[in-house]
Amino acid sequence: GFFRANIKQLPADPLFGLKARYAKDLRSNKVDLGIGAYRDDNGKPWILPSVRLAENMLQNSSEYNHEYLPISGFPSFTSAAARVILGDDSKAISENKLVSIQSLSGTGALHVAGLFLKNQYKSENESANASLPTIYLSNPTWANHFQIFNVLGLKTESYPYWNTSTKSLDLTGLLSTIDSAPEGSVFLLHATAHNPTGLDPNEEQWSKILDALSKKRHLPLFDSAYQGFSSGSLAKDAWAVRQAVNNMGSKYQFPGLLICQSFAKNVGMYGERVGAVHVVLPSNDEILQNAIQSQLSKIIRSEISNPPAYGAKIVSKILNTPELYKQWEQDLITMSSRIGKMRQELVNELNRLETPGTWNHITEQQGMFSFTGLTPEQVASLEKDHGVYLVGSGRASIAGLNPGNVAYVAKCIDAVVR
Ligand code: PLP
Repeated sequence: GFFRANIKQLPADPLFGLKARYAKDLRSNKVDLGIGAYRDDNGKPWILPSVRLAENMLQNSSEYNHEYLPISGFPSFTSAAARVILGDDSKAISENKLVSIQSLSGTGALHVAGLFLKNQYKSENESANASLPTIYLSNPTWANHFQIFNVLGLKTESYPYWNTSTKSLDLTGLLSTIDSAPEGSVFLLHATAHNPTGLDPNEEQWSKILDALSKKRHLPLFDSAYQGFSSGSLAKDAWAVRQAVNNMGSKYQFPGLLICQSFAKNVGMYGERVGAVHVVLPSNDEILQNAIQSQLSKIIRSEISNPPAYGAKIVSKILNTPELYKQWEQDLITMSSRIGKMRQELVNELNRLETPGTWNHITEQQGMFSFTGLTPEQVASLEKDHGVYLVGSGRASIAGLNPGNVAYVAKCIDAVVR
């Protein structure tokens, strides 16, 4: 029949495939450094204390029900989410230059942003798909970025980012791609805690990147999935986003700016799918604002009708209750500092073992991940011979390290490197 003749088997998703192999592995000392989810000192998922408090509060409040949310989401969530990324004193908020809508976490936000862009460019030139913008992605990037945009029929290109030999940012390559890309292209930027490298531009490098984007009237699309994970500070980790937004319409002439925000990691609400898309306009323009709101609403209505309520209510409770917000800031420090400590211990162990090569990049990187520089062969041997699981690119989720396994992991890395 038609199905048999036409439907092809696709390869398993590399990360979820890895998770399945790990689950089947019977070795008791196996270590999961694959998926990007925070684990505590015992290797267990962590429900944030701020989340526990918010859940109790919510369940005892009149907001607790399982009714539908509005199409654009839980209003006190989306407005508070905008303040988290843009800052309480953001002019984009006070001058009303913003449209926010709730999404299915960061992935859903990227999808909505991509479809929004696709629809707008299409209506500008009905027939010509050639006029669709190309989305530029860092090389390397989160692998799902390609699929999210490609399934929408959007073209993706790569910009240089990680210099393999120096294990640092290829700023020259990045700037020259920004310069040579057709005017009005879309550049996806990891707001902080770059996945998979753990390498973020410093403030001076960010300024050069934003200058170059502005000169070519490119559209910045910030993917903010790890705010608070790099430094433990929400404000510090939003520096690049705020620098771009606060200088729009003056120093920077962006046609607009998009932010795809996830609360999966920084509130530990992975499975609850809490996120938002924020569209920032260069100036206050109520007609355009309403038009954008209507376009985003149509996408949400047709695809999911309305977003999930429970997680958004929990996150809203945290963001809108001062004591809970303080607890959340503390939780971010707990997570980011534990990861920082594990980076340090891993490097200390490798140095102690006099493992060949240099390893200081692991402590210079930030966020959930480290691009270790291990080769695909070394990664395969770590899995097969030692039960230590990481993705083929050599990316390790540092959150999977803990005091009970870090020495073992160092010993295994040492063994496969020699
Ligand atoms: N963007 C990046 C760079 C990510 O690493 C992730 C998750 O791994 C996401 C977005 C989206 O995650 P989620 O859809 O779970 O919010």
